Amino acid sequence: MSGDLAESGDLVHLARAVELSRHCPPSETAFSVGAVIVGADGEVLAEGYSREVDAHNHAEEAALGKLPAGDPRLRTATVYSSLEPCGQRASRPRTCAELIIAAGVPRVVVAWREPDLFVTACQGTAMLTAAGVEVVELPELAAQAREVNAHLLG
Ligand SMILES: [Zn+2]
Repeated sequence: MSGDLAESGDLVHLARAVELSRHCPPSETAFSVGAVIVGADGEVLAEGYSREVDAHNHAEEAALGKLPAGDPRLRTATVYSSLEPCGQRASRPRTCAELIIAAGVPRVVVAWREPDLFVTACQGTAMLTAAGVEVVELPELAAQAREVNAHLLG
């Protein structure tokens, strides 16, 4: 696959993640995020969004939770998330960055870096990169990912 084709596929899947973020139950204290897990062959393996399963659920966690632990397809998959996976969280012992690393996912594509609003200096991207995960940012979709959270950003 050429780089151009890979990038247009990335935009399609990331746009879907942003679309999913619009389905999140509203919150005044947490971001609305969507996530899509796509296999190496382009098949969508799972989707999720913030607070889909319970009040503290994160999008990446919701999507990963729909696949069996150790699913071999995860080892060649890409996680698309409208927001950088969290590297710190108060609500659960494992961050989304840790969950992605534990699942063996080699690549993450994000639209928007987490602003210093609920945690300072989110380390999600740094944690992923340190673990050997490729993190790609597509700022073309950052404005749309932000817009879903405009009420939080003031
Ligand atoms: Zn998270």
